[in-house]
Amino acid sequence: MKVLVVGSGGREHAIVTSVAKSPRVDKIYCAPGNAGIAALAECVPIGAMEFDKLVAFAKEKEIDFTIIGMDDPLVGGIVDVFEAEGLRVFGPKKNAAILEGSKAFSKDLMKKYNIPTAAYENFTDPKAAIAYLEQAKFPIVLKADGLALGKGVLICENLDEAKAGVKEIMEDKKFGASGNTMVIEEFMTGREVSVLSFVDGKTIKIMSSAQDHKRAKDGDQGLNTGGMGNFSPSPFYTEEVDNFCKKYIYQATVDAMAKEGRPFTGVIFFGLMLTEDGPKVLEYNARFGDPEAQVVLPRMKNDIIDVMEACVDGKLDTVDLQFEDNAAVCVVLASDGYPVSYEKGFEIKGLENFDGKDGYYCFHAGTKFDENGKIVTNGGRVLGVTAKGATLKEARANAYAATEWVDFANKYMRHDIGKAIDEVK
Ligand code: AMP
Repeated sequence: MKVLVVGSGGREHAIVTSVAKSPRVDKIYCAPGNAGIAALAECVPIGAMEFDKLVAFAKEKEIDFTIIGMDDPLVGGIVDVFEAEGLRVFGPKKNAAILEGSKAFSKDLMKKYNIPTAAYENFTDPKAAIAYLEQAKFPIVLKADGLALGKGVLICENLDEAKAGVKEIMEDKKFGASGNTMVIEEFMTGREVSVLSFVDGKTIKIMSSAQDHKRAKDGDQGLNTGGMGNFSPSPFYTEEVDNFCKKYIYQATVDAMAKEGRPFTGVIFFGLMLTEDGPKVLEYNARFGDPEAQVVLPRMKNDIIDVMEACVDGKLDTVDLQFEDNAAVCVVLASDGYPVSYEKGFEIKGLENFDGKDGYYCFHAGTKFDENGKIVTNGGRVLGVTAKGATLKEARANAYAATEWVDFANKYMRHDIGKAIDEVK
């Protein structure tokens, strides 16, 4: 088989790494890919939003199966464009990717189908939003409706902050058209857990859980980022939580989408908050999380192509999804200053230390080849260093040891990824 993966981050590197393990695959292309992916796939300089070029490429190279890793092309309808050309592609159609593409849509869906989530209201008029906030309890959460690179959520401690947030999102349009509609949501407290799943339109199979660290600094301080590291499985995702979510959240979401005439095929990411009143949905994503993919996929025993094809063919019920009985921890190596401002273009040394090391992965996020063919930093999040271990503690020790194998100027990481594990017996 010839496989094309669309995207360029650590998530796509993790997907390509899984695809490369499949004995069914002879050749992998990645558009646009990055310097790490280039070791496993032929990277082609086509952007993820260049649908016509991607279709033309897939036809020219006779690609058998395309995997879309990123949210923007999914929400933009890339799957519909590929399918209209008779190409096999893994991911939700546009009318289903709206589960991630519009928070107002996903909140209304959850309300209509009684899926547990925070209380909320949707607003298209900033004046109405402010009138609502004047009566509200704080803290409160403002969310731009559409995609905003993971930055469209503001937690406001008081009315002044909330008013400034309304201005930013709805009037100044900091997130563009994504702020035409805004969700105002009840603030919830609890531990956050991420759950990825494969879905074929009607059947859902849950992958191993994960837990993210979104803040830039140790002790969950600093600004929100795309993610500074994570671990899988989450010890807080207990059997009780799993049973609750199976009963009230997972299948209910898939059934709701089907009932709405928007059958979902692909990966649903459930961002859950484990509140005192039970698990509630914080958000849905319509694709693998990044870096969640970097700790979950290395532990998956199945051939990823078998599972993804079963989703596309509506045969997921025939798949026995299995994960290794171990743990994985990913520590993100970022450029100092991320997520605000940072320098790029520094040579990355020591990447070869990962060669041939079973259970260790160095997933590239923001890297590129410079004019001399050296691999240099090219983004805020540069590398995701993942290691497996028999237990979470062992995986964490392994991952932190491996962060020392690579070096670049302005290398920055959190030192407490997975520290929450220590609270568990
Ligand atoms: P989202 O993109 O909706 O997952 O929001 C990003 C982050 O904001 C989440 O991972 C939470 O840490 C936080 N967040 C979002 N919604 C809420 C909420 N209702 N209550 C408390 N924290 C929230």
